[in-house]
Amino acid sequence: MARPKIAIASFQHETNTFAPFVTDWEQFMTPGSWPAYCVGDRMFETCTGLNIPISGFIETASMCDLVPISYAVAEPGGLVAQTAFDAICDRMLAGIKAAGPLDGLYLDLHGAMVTEQADDGEALLLQRLRALVGVDLPIVVSLDLHGNISPEFCNLVSAMVIYRTYPHIDMAETGRRAAKVFETILRRKKLPYKSFQQLNFMVPITAQSTRRQPAQQLYQGLEDLEGEAVLSVDLAFGFPPADIPNCGISVFACGYDQAAVAAATATVVAALDDAEDSFDDQLMAMDAAVQTADYLTKQAQRPVIIADPQDNPGAGSSGDSTGILAALLKHRIPALLGMFWAPEAAFLCHQAGVGAQVQLTLGGTFPDQNGPEIVVTGSVKHLSEGRFICAGPMLAGIAANLGKMAAVTITLENRGEIVVVIGSNRAQTADREVFRHIGCDPESYGIVVVKSAIHFLADFEPIAETVLFAVAAGQNPCKLTEIPYKKLRSGLRLGAQGPAFIRPEH
Ligand SMILES: [Zn+2]
Repeated sequence: MARPKIAIASFQHETNTFAPFVTDWEQFMTPGSWPAYCVGDRMFETCTGLNIPISGFIETASMCDLVPISYAVAEPGGLVAQTAFDAICDRMLAGIKAAGPLDGLYLDLHGAMVTEQADDGEALLLQRLRALVGVDLPIVVSLDLHGNISPEFCNLVSAMVIYRTYPHIDMAETGRRAAKVFETILRRKKLPYKSFQQLNFMVPITAQSTRRQPAQQLYQGLEDLEGEAVLSVDLAFGFPPADIPNCGISVFACGYDQAAVAAATATVVAALDDAEDSFDDQLMAMDAAVQTADYLTKQAQRPVIIADPQDNPGAGSSGDSTGILAALLKHRIPALLGMFWAPEAAFLCHQAGVGAQVQLTLGGTFPDQNGPEIVVTGSVKHLSEGRFICAGPMLAGIAANLGKMAAVTITLENRGEIVVVIGSNRAQTADREVFRHIGCDPESYGIVVVKSAIHFLADFEPIAETVLFAVAAGQNPCKLTEIPYKKLRSGLRLGAQGPAFIRPEH
């Protein structure tokens, strides 16, 4: 039998519809925490060996002839510019057309992409693809655990698998699972049955970690439901800062026994409903968080980590909220803080050089959402070009490119110092190398503040005395009842046991 010919492509964006900036073509071209846009054979060089889905798929689908089409991933942010979406789609469609007859298509997608014109970016992509390849070609997709998945999207794909960890340490493994599902579909020459259900409550991302309960148990239970009858059963927690009707939690299963597939979905939905009371957003008021951390450091042998989840660039925030820095300065608490997005300040530090005294304006780009600017005086401790290889469990091997970076020391009289690590390309602080490569070992600080919501746990929790989640100003609001939603579906409850959303009359 001829080897099956499968086209492969990545197109990922997690869209925060409340972020006040558009994600344009440039964002997909710029490397940051992820490789930059590439096409064709270049994808094999760029993507192989990384903890990303398409890498796992390439590694496992050795029974197929793979046709690499395109890789397009941008840092989470505001609505995807329609021109960027159309350009990436057009190139992807042209590549697939040029590939000739195919036996299938594998797509590494996110599931929470919103464009300037489409609430459901992935469904729009699939509609265009189906118009090209027809309704019968097997299309297997992998999605992020934060996918806001719609029934329309499920109808358009043949099968899907979803990350099962948050922090996402299983991205490549999810690609490998997709390849195994594909292998079964090709062997059986038949598309599987599908089952899909959305839940009627949502939970903030700080309550979704699979290093915490109840998420850990819920995800561990999925594998037990799989076997001969059920190819895959998956759960997406959704991405709450997205004002779209399909925002929220959903469950998907596929396989060759229709009743078993439906039963698997029902089992996971029931487990989620039973667990609703156990979801904890972990959030603390900002002043209480920094003061608690300061108190704990007096006894602690290891750093106390404070997360700044509402200013998490990995959820579309800009990364320049001044909230926690202001609280540290107000209470005169020493700490290491990063990565703060401040390209102009980083440039000034590079101009001034190591050891120079500098006066920097930090934050204030979006004062309504991220707090007012702060002017600080400090000395330049270290400089870098922001290029380093990540080493933590989630991002190992990724060549980060965060642009000009600087570590700046702010002296607190008789109280030590605050070291702020600033950078030029927005990125979540999920890997200790963000600090380490610029001469700041997180292990040698009493308090470390990270601009991340959950992903930092993979690399930072193992070195932490404890972890606190502080509520500071930011574009990734985690108190769901405070988010100005207008377009969710009516009846969806905002948080575990939260109030039901009522869609305003038009
Ligand atoms: Zn995610």
